[in-house]
Amino acid sequence: MAFRYEEKQNYGMKVGIIGASAAGLYTAILVAKRHPDYRVVVLEKNDKAGKKLLATGNGHCNLFNLSFSGNAFNHPEFVNTLLNKYSVSDLLATFRELGISTIEKDGLLYPLSFSAAAHVRYLVTLAESLGVQFRYGERVVGINGPQVTTDKNVYSFDKLVYAFGGKSQANLGSDGSMFLLLSKKGYHLVEQEPSLCPLKSPEVPKSLFGIRHKCELWLTKENMTLYHEIGEVLFKKDGLSGIAIMNASSRYEKGASVRIDLFPELSEKELYENLCRSYRANQREFLAAVLERPLEEFILQKSNISCKTAIKESDISKICSVLKSLQFRISGKYGFESSQVTRGGIDLREVGENLESKLEPNVFFTGECLDIDGLCGGYNLGWALLSSKVVAGAL
Ligand SMILES: Cc1cc2nc3c(=O)[nH]c(=O)nc-3n(C[C@H](O)[C@H](O)[C@H](O)COP(=O)(O)OP(=O)(O)OC[C@H]3O[C@@H](n4cnc5c(N)ncnc54)[C@H](O)[C@@H]3O)c2cc1C
Repeated sequence: MAFRYEEKQNYGMKVGIIGASAAGLYTAILVAKRHPDYRVVVLEKNDKAGKKLLATGNGHCNLFNLSFSGNAFNHPEFVNTLLNKYSVSDLLATFRELGISTIEKDGLLYPLSFSAAAHVRYLVTLAESLGVQFRYGERVVGINGPQVTTDKNVYSFDKLVYAFGGKSQANLGSDGSMFLLLSKKGYHLVEQEPSLCPLKSPEVPKSLFGIRHKCELWLTKENMTLYHEIGEVLFKKDGLSGIAIMNASSRYEKGASVRIDLFPELSEKELYENLCRSYRANQREFLAAVLERPLEEFILQKSNISCKTAIKESDISKICSVLKSLQFRISGKYGFESSQVTRGGIDLREVGENLESKLEPNVFFTGECLDIDGLCGGYNLGWALLSSKVVAGAL
């Protein structure tokens, strides 16, 4: 049966929100709290809310980063302008006001439950207790002024909030179909591409698959450093992953390479001295003192040493320089199915400082559907909160 919310009497504004994940949930809760008389209806194509949220932080949901600032995003100034409205302290206070208890690990905030599933349950029940109505299993297929058509109903709202996400991991909900609808309405879009994703390299041998190593890495192009970080690298069958690589993917440009120092804590001289000591103590397996077997074989090959048993002490400096500067040519990024966020989306020039559409009054954008993407570490969920605060404050 078609949903007729008009039956509900005595409400002020009718606010429609498209998308019930991070940004949609935050906006719904903040609007319903601020305006108890508003009727807030959230339209979600999935059969439940927060499907993507459930996957965040390896199921632990990294909510926020205490170093949150525009510098972690593709458009630093835009984010900083909004931070002038709502500072990091305001955002942290919002968690407290909503009763969201958090725990900090190295500057990264998680729900105290350390569980994305519990966090989603908390947000959905909080929204419901504030009177927010969820319409699950309804895909928005058309928008005409204040009228929103789903594959099941037609709704009419006074204010509309787009919180439909990007294109990453469509199996979790956001499939980019809304971009098509909005471009037909005349919105300018920045071309979408995957970000926070693994990088492809034909030079990673299959034998390294599954190895994780703490590294210092540089993403470079023509002697320019595009990105630099000390962090974990995970070797894949045909590329590189891990948080440091995912972050590097957000600065990737065609023709870039990755350079890795496998032992960032040691200078080349210190590493050399370590290896010499191991060599003198156990000449046959001295590299086992510092490397797993598949990496050892790869490093020897890169050092042009074909026969392990014939390694001389004089070869060690050659091995050290490879260990400190391993190069991989990058042939591209993995696709949306492997990316955590989407770069591109609604062009920022389409919205004013309250994230209200310049094209249509009473229409707002929040979360990843805008052309804003940040690094790993709670920045993207932080953006969902910041942008939702701005929108809720303007409604
Ligand atoms: C595996 C993974 C791990 C991540 N971990 C973290 C982390 O730990 N910390 C962090 O900060 N960020 C993390 N992110 C990124 C973060 O999850 C996203 O940036 C964030 O969820 C974006 O929120 P959003 O509400 O804007 O969009 P989404 O979460 O994508 O939600 C959009 C919602 O809109 C719905 N929708 C789309 N189109 C329609 C339509 N036509 N009709 C109705 N509904 C529609 C979708 O079904 C979806 O539920 C991770 C992402 C992934 C994929």
